[in-house]
Amino acid sequence: MRRRTFVKAAGVTTLGLAATGTASARYDDDQRYRPGGPRLGNERSINLNAFHTNEELATELAKIEDRSGRIDLREIGRSAGRNDPIWEVEVGGGDTKIHLITQIHGDEPIGTEVALEVIKKLAQSNSRQVDRILDNLSFTIVPRVNPDGAMYRYDFDGDGDEEWVARRQNTQPWDGESRYRPYYHYDGGYDMNRDFNVRPSAEFDPRTDDEEAWWTDDYLDMPYEGHTLYSSGLRLTPEVRAVTESFVEADPDYAITHHHKGGNLYPGSGDGNQPPKQTLLSVMAQYGEAYLDRSPFFPAGHEPVSEAVNPFIDAETSDRSIKLNSLVIDALGERGNSVFDSVTRYGYYPLWGSYLDGLCPNVANGGDPVAGMLYEVAYQTDHLGQKAFGRMLELTRVSFLESFDALAEDPDLGEYDVETYFDTPLYGASTAPYR
Ligand SMILES: [Zn+2]
Repeated sequence: MRRRTFVKAAGVTTLGLAATGTASARYDDDQRYRPGGPRLGNERSINLNAFHTNEELATELAKIEDRSGRIDLREIGRSAGRNDPIWEVEVGGGDTKIHLITQIHGDEPIGTEVALEVIKKLAQSNSRQVDRILDNLSFTIVPRVNPDGAMYRYDFDGDGDEEWVARRQNTQPWDGESRYRPYYHYDGGYDMNRDFNVRPSAEFDPRTDDEEAWWTDDYLDMPYEGHTLYSSGLRLTPEVRAVTESFVEADPDYAITHHHKGGNLYPGSGDGNQPPKQTLLSVMAQYGEAYLDRSPFFPAGHEPVSEAVNPFIDAETSDRSIKLNSLVIDALGERGNSVFDSVTRYGYYPLWGSYLDGLCPNVANGGDPVAGMLYEVAYQTDHLGQKAFGRMLELTRVSFLESFDALAEDPDLGEYDVETYFDTPLYGASTAPYR
């Protein structure tokens, strides 16, 4: 059996990996990057009363649809464990299409709360801002991809009663439907942001279409178009199949996904005369070979390319992805507020089972690639409390709305500078571990 080692990102110099900007990494004997393996005991003790239950979310969406003739609400699937509906909202009639998903990790709820507010605003407001957004943009929003994880029931405090907690994975057993149990199935569920696959559904079924040679232990290293797509997903979850279909039907120009990470310092703060300052938002663009030499974790010329960048994202699409991130960095920085100007970068490398890397090549629609963006909002830890919760909502709300404003104005985001993004530092040392 191959020996694998877990290494913390901090201080690692292998392959030029920066000290910060990425979650814990692990490598196999070939020094091949292996993304996010099992996280044991990752259920969180957080105050969930501030968030919508699955039932409340359904009620709220139905209410918005009733009151507004603008939105189209659709159930696109059901969660694997609870059999709760997965909702999709379409709104807007413009030429520029945006696909937005939130809470694919059940314990990452802020994006859903903001998505709901944004849906309500787009459905009900008669402001000039909203008119302009709806005239120029069309949205397909999946506001809670993981109802199982969002409403996980577990006896967290050991008192014999199950509490409502939240967890990353869904609650789907591995039933032997793939050749091997994939690395991203653990604790009775799948990490669904590892379950996507770049091949269209008609061309890949894990029951019939993989090959023994594609597997390295429990990792599917799938060959595709002259590349090896390491740690590809198997599309085993109904949630990921539903999101994939939603994406293919939407055939978007932009794809946005919202997550949480642990607490991290803004780099340079906390040493010398600088007080420690937490970065509350890290953003990440997705780009192809045009930006290979900007890859933060791999030296220029690193082979294979598919570990460093997404070779299916062309230069024009890479530019738009990066500029969408620059826009958010600018918009928050201009607020002149020390909370909002703490934006950092979440260093990009392809994660072939993820929403962005699996879907943005847009193979099912003929390979017209999609510009992606990922949000990582610092997690609400207990010691940060409700005030921090409000800030994270606000950061996300401002970022989404400023993005939509700018895209309504110019879908190519011509006035934004890719260097704004690359000048933004990778996030710094950890202050609160992501469990
Ligand atoms: Zn996440």
